[in-house]
Order: sequence, then C-alpha cells, then structure tokens
Amino acid sequence: MLIHNAEISSRRTSLRCKNGLIVQIADQIAIDGGEEVIDAKGGVLLPGLHDHHLHLFSLAAQLASLNCGPPNITSHDALTRVLREAEPSGGWLRGTGYFESVAGPLNRNRLDAIRADVPIRIQHRSGSMWFLNSRAIEALQLETRVGEAMPHLVDGRPGRKSGTAREDNAIENIERDALGRASGRLFRADDLLRQRIPASAAPDLAIVGSRLARYGVTRVTDATPTTSPVEAELFLAAQRSGALPQRLRLMGRLALSGFQETDRLEIGEVKIMLDEPALPELDHLTRSIESAHAVGRRVAIHTVTRTEIHFALAAFGAAGPLPGDRLEHASIAPDEALERTKQLEISIVTQPNFVGERGDDYRETVGAEDLPWLYRLESWRKSGIPLAAGTDAPFGDPDPWRAMNAAVTRQTASGACLGPNEKVSPEVALGLFRDQIFDTGQTKNSPFGSLAVGQKADLCLLNSSWREAREELSSERVVATLCAGNVIWPAEI
Ligand SMILES: [Zn+2]
Repeated sequence: MLIHNAEISSRRTSLRCKNGLIVQIADQIAIDGGEEVIDAKGGVLLPGLHDHHLHLFSLAAQLASLNCGPPNITSHDALTRVLREAEPSGGWLRGTGYFESVAGPLNRNRLDAIRADVPIRIQHRSGSMWFLNSRAIEALQLETRVGEAMPHLVDGRPGRKSGTAREDNAIENIERDALGRASGRLFRADDLLRQRIPASAAPDLAIVGSRLARYGVTRVTDATPTTSPVEAELFLAAQRSGALPQRLRLMGRLALSGFQETDRLEIGEVKIMLDEPALPELDHLTRSIESAHAVGRRVAIHTVTRTEIHFALAAFGAAGPLPGDRLEHASIAPDEALERTKQLEISIVTQPNFVGERGDDYRETVGAEDLPWLYRLESWRKSGIPLAAGTDAPFGDPDPWRAMNAAVTRQTASGACLGPNEKVSPEVALGLFRDQIFDTGQTKNSPFGSLAVGQKADLCLLNSSWREAREELSSERVVATLCAGNVIWPAEI
C-alpha cells in the first residue's frame, strides 16, 4: 500500500506500508506493480487515534437504544413520547443518558405510568444507575428470585441470598421501597443485568467498530471494571471476525491478569470504581492496588468528586505508585490534588467532551467551589503530568474530534465558556488521542511524531492540510483510516 501526496510533519511526501508496518517515507516513491495506491491530495496523514477510555459493549448497546436525556430529551412529555412510540427490541425497551433535569428522579411507579406493557430499563447518564418499570422488575426476577431468600427486608436495606459472588454483589444494589418492593432503581448492577437478560440481546460490536473507524480510531482502551476473561474472549472473537478492526487494551478485573495477549489485544490496568457515598476502607483500596501491582498490573481509579480524587491519591501514596497508574476522569481536581498527582507520577485520562456535552448542566449543578477545577487540561499539561483523553462513550459522544474541539474551545452547548484557563491548542488536543499517553514533559512527543519507518501502520488521513484542519477539528475530515496497514474506513477507496 502506497499513500502518496500526503502531508507528514508539514511536508508533502509519500508513505509505504507493508506487513502492517511503515516501511518507507520519502518524497519520491515509485509505485510497485500491483500495489494499492491512495492519493492523499495533500491531506495530512496522522497516526491513528487512540480513545483511551470507553466502554465497547455499552456503546454497542447504546447505538441500538433510545436516547432519554439532554440535549435530545429535556422534558417529561418528551420522555413519555419517545417511550410510548418506541418498538421494543429483543422484547425490551432500553433507554440511556437519563438525567434528573428531564423529569426528576425516576422509579417503577413513574415509569409504569408512562408505559407498562413492555419491560423498560433506562440508564442514568452517570452509568451507575438503572431505572426499571414493573414489567422489567418481573422479567429480571428481582422480587421472586431475591425475595425468597430474603425474608427480612427493611426499608432501603436489601438482604443477601446465596449465589455467585458477583450476584451477591449486585443484589446489594437493588433499592427497596417502604413496602420492601424493588423501587425500580438499581445501583452498579450491570453484572446482574447481564446475567438475567437473555444473550439474544447481546450487542453487536460491528456497529461500534465501523463507527470508530470512521473517526480515525485505530486503538481503544476499554475501561469497564467488570471485564473478565469471558468478555475478553468475546472481544477476541470480534477482532477475529473483523467486527472490531481496532487494536484493544482491556482494563478490568484482577482475574484478567493471566489472559493470553495477542498482537492486537493487550491487558491493561485493573480498574477500580469509587463511589463517594460508599467509599471502601482506605486500607482495602490500598491492598487492592498492591495486589494488582504484585502481578504486574497497573491500576486505574475512577474519580469524579473532590473527595474521591483525594481518597484515590491517598491510597496510591500508601501503596506506592507504579509509573502508568492512572486516575480516570479526575473530573474535579483542586490544585492540591494536582500537586500530589505530580509527586506520585500518576497519569490522568480525562474527558474534555463533557465540557461541551454537559457543561450547561455543570454550571447549574456543580458547586461554585468546585467549578474552577472541572475537567482541567492546561493545568495538568503545564505541570508536566502525563495526560490523555478518552470519550467515555457511551456516556460521552464517541467522536474524539468533538472532544478535541471542546478541549480547544471549552464551549458548552449554549456557547458559554467553561474554564477558559484550561483551553489547549489544537495540537495538544490531538495529542490527547495519540497512541501512547501524551507525556507533556517530553518535547519529542509531538502529536505528529510517531510516523516513522518501522512503526505500526495505524493511520488516519484527513482531507485537508493540518493548517486548515486545526481551525475546525471535525471527524468529517477523516477520509481514510488504516489499522496495521489495512484500510478499515471507508470500506472502498
Ligand atoms: Zn468510563
């Protein structure tokens, strides 16, 4: 494969790839007989993008789901309309993106009043909560299967039943009302949903693979904490079938540690969720970090509040960090947390897209004392802290170019500017999605730096020069994506 007439490091040149690698970059390359040729027409050739934090199965499910939150759905009436008009798929209605600004807190009674003839499950925008109507509670057997073994239910205090450890864990998270019935609210119960919803409803990763290829994404880090060898096998199968053409790093449980890696599937960090109302003992978190380190895994801790970031940093401090340990989101990061992150040499993987997508809600719901520390970028970069971005799709829009754009403008949907001091240049924004975590302390790490002979031929070709592209970062500009030298977008050139 020969790509000629491309802009690489600000000059017109040509690039040849063979056996998945870049083998030649030169101004004049003669075409070999039978070689596939792409005329870049002067468009800039970039390294393929790496989305450093997303959730592939949830994204696949979302692409096949109803959008139940802002900006599409903003009122009780609109929610009612979308749920009443929808056709169930696999017997269910599945909604995502719900936020309380639409119609306040949801529960089974409120959902039953909207629609009671099919099971409905709606995910809160945070990803940590599901709302169910009565038909869904029945279908999941939340009252029969759990209730039999839990005769002594107290308001808001679910009991236990014997079963797998995973199920036990999830059953803790079924909220009960004053009558002991399931209230229709489930917290962090994705395992339970997975176990009790038929496999026929399992989402198809091909829609995700092609969508991401369209954006120039050649590698992703799946940050789902519950990923075990079972899911890893499904991802491998999706890569083999071609449904998922990207390279994959999998975070997940400690149990992933022995999983056989391939040249396209790598095992990443042990992912640990924190949830401020239910923080573990600090000792417990410290020990979890130590157990991961003991088997050579790095740790990624989810922190979205001020308390959570301090708590995570305290645990990293106590366990002793390893280079490559990460904080995911770091949504609220006051200066003292920034200092401590730097001392401990922890990396940050954040979501500039949330500024664009949720900024207007943040302006109303985040306290004034926390607003200046929201989704910082330039401050991390200036401090020399290794920094990268992920879209957190499906909780954020999966288009990394929209995230880059938000990183540059810090603009909310209404046009307000959130954290103007945290703006970064288009080059830094692009660098947030480069293959390796952007080490801002090293100048050789330019966002264009990794196109060199001997490197993997993971490439993203735009339809314009960088000078033009940087003025308006948009996925519309992506005209071709190659992974290991194979064209993965568009299917035909
Ligand atoms: Zn996430």
